[in-house]
Amino acid sequence: MYKYGGYAGKYIRVDLSERKIRVEETPPELVHDYLGGAGLAARLLWDEVEPEVKPLSPQNKIIFATGPVTGTLFPPSGRYAVVSLSPLTGHWGEAHAGGAFSPELKYAGYDFIILEGKAEKPVYLCIEDDLVELRDASHLWGKDTSKTTDLICAENGDPEIKVACIGPAGENLVRYACVINDYYRAAGRTGMGAVMGSKNLKAIAVRGSGDLKPALPEDFTKFSLGAFERHARGEWAEYIQSTSRTYGTTGLMDSMNAIGRLPTRNHYDGYYPEIDKVGSEEIRKCFRVGHKSCFGCAIQCKYISRIKEGKDARTQSEGPEYETVMAYTSNILNSDLTVAMRANYLCNIYGMDTISSGASIAFAMECYEEGLITRGTTEGLELRWGDGEVTLKLVEMIARREGFGDLLAEGVREAAKRIGKGAERYAIEMNGLEASGQDGRAHKSVGLTYAVSVRGADHLRSLCIIDELGFRGKAKERFPQYDTNLVCDLLDERYKGYLVADQEALFAVCDALIVCKYGVMWPPIYYWEDFARLIHLLTGMEEYADVEETKRLGERMAHLKRMFNIRLGWNKANDSLHPRFTEEAMPSGPGKGQVVHLEPMLKEYYEVRGYDWDSGYPTPSALESVGLGDVANELKKMGRLVTD
Ligand code: SF4
Repeated sequence: MYKYGGYAGKYIRVDLSERKIRVEETPPELVHDYLGGAGLAARLLWDEVEPEVKPLSPQNKIIFATGPVTGTLFPPSGRYAVVSLSPLTGHWGEAHAGGAFSPELKYAGYDFIILEGKAEKPVYLCIEDDLVELRDASHLWGKDTSKTTDLICAENGDPEIKVACIGPAGENLVRYACVINDYYRAAGRTGMGAVMGSKNLKAIAVRGSGDLKPALPEDFTKFSLGAFERHARGEWAEYIQSTSRTYGTTGLMDSMNAIGRLPTRNHYDGYYPEIDKVGSEEIRKCFRVGHKSCFGCAIQCKYISRIKEGKDARTQSEGPEYETVMAYTSNILNSDLTVAMRANYLCNIYGMDTISSGASIAFAMECYEEGLITRGTTEGLELRWGDGEVTLKLVEMIARREGFGDLLAEGVREAAKRIGKGAERYAIEMNGLEASGQDGRAHKSVGLTYAVSVRGADHLRSLCIIDELGFRGKAKERFPQYDTNLVCDLLDERYKGYLVADQEALFAVCDALIVCKYGVMWPPIYYWEDFARLIHLLTGMEEYADVEETKRLGERMAHLKRMFNIRLGWNKANDSLHPRFTEEAMPSGPGKGQVVHLEPMLKEYYEVRGYDWDSGYPTPSALESVGLGDVANELKKMGRLVTD
């Protein structure tokens, strides 16, 4: 019996170079201090990956981590994290996916897998309860993610085996290649698929038959069923049915456009006049053919889409999500949804992040328009805005690293460097990660979120909109020192530093548990008190019944990820935004005339976090107060700690 509830109690370590596999007890002190998921992986990566290591070298490690919630009754509980040094950004790499792969890993008896080295030939890791072995994957190399999953199921004689794999993009080391599980679910960002490819690791297949025990079963069951009921039959059920269950995340196309935050023409604008052609109702009417959910979730925002006519008729996939529709419609000025559907399908089977691939194409189109690249550079392709045929051709060329696609496969930061002539002006990335579907000019807290996010321009490190819209209804009580009207004003920079810092810590807890943020941010929305109770009932860790201690846990994990980057050379200069957001006023829509004034927000944020304004480095007390004294000592030796 493991010390804490909710855990499988063991983990797998695989040395791919030596073909050695070890199964050991999940260190209780590690889960106590970092819970699981991306939090636990942050500590492992800090301890085991030296700063000199190159992302695509055998010395880099990749961790597949579940959390204590994974596979339990608490909804939604089907997610896992993939964490490594990112080949796209050179810093902290983290991606998450839902589906059913992660619960299966827990039922097989494992909390996480850590993989190191490089296999001599392509392999896949097969896990069936106590059986853990590396198998030859030569016959799978070159196959797309769908075919790979089919073949692994067939050769194991088990259609229910859960597979997480890479496609040709990962094999070709496309720097934003992703990991696909359950056919359609993408651990999308920061190039985790390329790390797998660099290790000749094609897939992980898992089947499990065990179960999990919460520490306080009766109370935990009551708590979890209550959460499920609230989404399935409670006062919000009708609202969820008419929004998320009907439209999924594509509903954001309309709402983002309505507040002027929908990236349009390579983030030049935040308002897309042709929204009616690419909005959520159009997607539902023309493409939606089925309904899906992640493991144990009553919100059920997932859907199946199919192209019903034309040359790509019968192309079927899960999604696309909001980010993919944005990347392949408004942001490249394409109003033909069929192109977005097809691009989504191609990215899934090639195993490639839709946000970064779409952003790379938008970047290329703007460079072409500005004359920085020509048909000579693109091998005859005319990169006109909105050209669907060229877009889909580029998706395939990037995944295969063919011709001009080879340059775009490097990500926009590197592509801009190689193109030269000031191309970085059109490379809309922060710290190497292509910007996702948000625009801080029309929503100031998003600007700060992007600037300080540890994985680059990332909307999933914090989400202040919940407070800004007054959804929690407690802003006044929680922040009595603030003017609530300003907290709630999307275009006002004041207090956003405090909100972002609070949300970052909260999301660090979500990513350690692991719960789906989209799932727990529906009303009634989970906040610190709820997570403290959840952790206590599930794991039995008494101290986290105390809300302040749970906050400290969130702070510890949020700090540690940044310190991982600081050890790699990150400093205040990294806490910045692309000039498109700070210098180019929004040309139209509700955000017209707006830019992001980063400095005042950053000042507030540094104040809360205890970072030095000149360097961006932490003070000893900032780290010691959350139990990271050893991390402070290491940074001190490197001269990356400032005195209190
Ligand atoms: S809210 Fe949507 S993405 Fe999140 S767990 Fe539920 S079905 Fe999956």
